[in-house]
Amino acid sequence: MAPGIRVLILGGTGDAADLTGKMSVIPDIEVITSLAGRTRQPSALPGTVRVGGFGGSTGLAAYLHEHHIDLLIDATHPFAAQISWNAAIAAMEVGIPHLMLVRPAWAKVVGDDWIEVESVAAAALAIPVTAKQVFLTIGKQQLAPFMQLPKIWFLIRSIEPPTPDVAIPNSKLLLERGPFSLEQERQLLHDYGIDAIVSKNSGGDATYAKIVAARELSIPVVLIKRPAMPTGEKVTNVTGALAWLQRTTVLDSMGEKDICGW
Ligand code: NAP
Repeated sequence: MAPGIRVLILGGTGDAADLTGKMSVIPDIEVITSLAGRTRQPSALPGTVRVGGFGGSTGLAAYLHEHHIDLLIDATHPFAAQISWNAAIAAMEVGIPHLMLVRPAWAKVVGDDWIEVESVAAAALAIPVTAKQVFLTIGKQQLAPFMQLPKIWFLIRSIEPPTPDVAIPNSKLLLERGPFSLEQERQLLHDYGIDAIVSKNSGGDATYAKIVAARELSIPVVLIKRPAMPTGEKVTNVTGALAWLQRTTVLDSMGEKDICGW
């Protein structure tokens, strides 16, 4: 591999943490991970970690320039669309290779009772009228639309509590971080008498068990579709990202590609 390659990973996901761990042991690769700062106690990561927004695509481009970043890997959550668009624009502006690590969306299988919607606001309106006890698993950031549904009791699960201004009157909050097993999810749906679930189509294994448990128990799932993402190079897993890294840096060492766009 070419010596002294500096990679910025946009993180905030398990895949990003896994990728950071694997890349940080590769000789001559320096990894910097960027976190938005939404989680107060993020998992420990090797290498350099920076926290907080860049100030849009312009701020990110300036950061890439100032910190002599050679490669940009966007391993953010599939629903974190703004940062992904900013990354695509900034990488193009600076002229460095840019990869998106996007895990595949869950695909409907026989037995799934999904109500697919375009947004969180649409999800609040799409909850079946018969549902009285709803499991809300969309994180802590976009709960406001569910405050308007006083006839429903919500079981809310997130890693950290929502801000105090978002108070859902009839609810219980579970503060838990995945992965969750099928047995755990079956039990939870049973214990709370859940009759509908609201979830993002996040993909991946860590939170898929609730979808399987819902299928088994014939519980409808209001599933929020993913937002549009930029076009560009994409892989679906950490192995693919490591292969891209190798390809890209080997090309550079052969002088076939100028990975340092400056
Ligand atoms: P977003 O809407 O795409 O981003 C909003 C702003 O947050 C961005 O414009 C950027 O600010 C800043 N930002 C986001 N990710 C960043 C990163 N990795 N490093 C530095 N700044 C970042 O993102 P979001 O939906 O709020 O998600 C925030 C973070 O939580 C993401 O890193 C994502 O991976 C993680 N996450 C999100 C979800 C979800 O459902 N959305 C779920 C799990 C984890 P500036 O414009 O100032 O640069």
